[in-house]
Amino acid sequence: MAETETKKTFRDLGISEKVLKALDDMGFEEPSPIQEQAIPLLLNGKDVIGQAQTGTGKTAAFGVPIVERWDPKLKAVQALVLTPTRELAIQVAEEITKIAKYVRLKTIAIYGGQSIERQIRSLRFGVDVVIGTPGRIMDHIRRGTLDLSHVGIVVLDEADEMLDMGFIEDIEFILRETPTDR
Ligand code: AMP
Repeated sequence: MAETETKKTFRDLGISEKVLKALDDMGFEEPSPIQEQAIPLLLNGKDVIGQAQTGTGKTAAFGVPIVERWDPKLKAVQALVLTPTRELAIQVAEEITKIAKYVRLKTIAIYGGQSIERQIRSLRFGVDVVIGTPGRIMDHIRRGTLDLSHVGIVVLDEADEMLDMGFIEDIEFILRETPTDR
């Protein structure tokens, strides 16, 4: 008989009960290939460059480790996700919010075209995970309304798209605001 491949479960990847429950609520039964590969590495604090189409589960591949590595005692922005568009920022924020259903992690989507005052008020209330487009993120850094000095995880979602859109200098500026020992 041919060798049977053992499929890994989310539990096998070292995910906590609260996140397992949230994934179950989301209807996720088993990890997609990119999730199976990336989640254990990201949980160990490794940097990962993932190349994956939409529909492969890439958002949860980095969303689960963001939620798992969140430290509730640290009152600061701990993870930053940069996206090329506001639509993607909103989508990613929604998915991370679902993954964080059973923990008190706060996410915010920050993008141009939305009232900056409202964003500033939300940021002042305290958020743990910021998802946004490079231009508006940079704007907040310059105004002193976004502190990235405690960020432990940075994700460049659709990095190739962001580079095509000419965001390279903005991204470099933003990355310089995050800790060097990340
Ligand atoms: P993405 O590639 O991150 O845009 O995800 C595509 C869609 O697949 C989204 O609607 C996800 O919520 C869903 N999804 C991601 N991971 C899984 C999984 N392991 N099982 C079932 N659905 C998933």
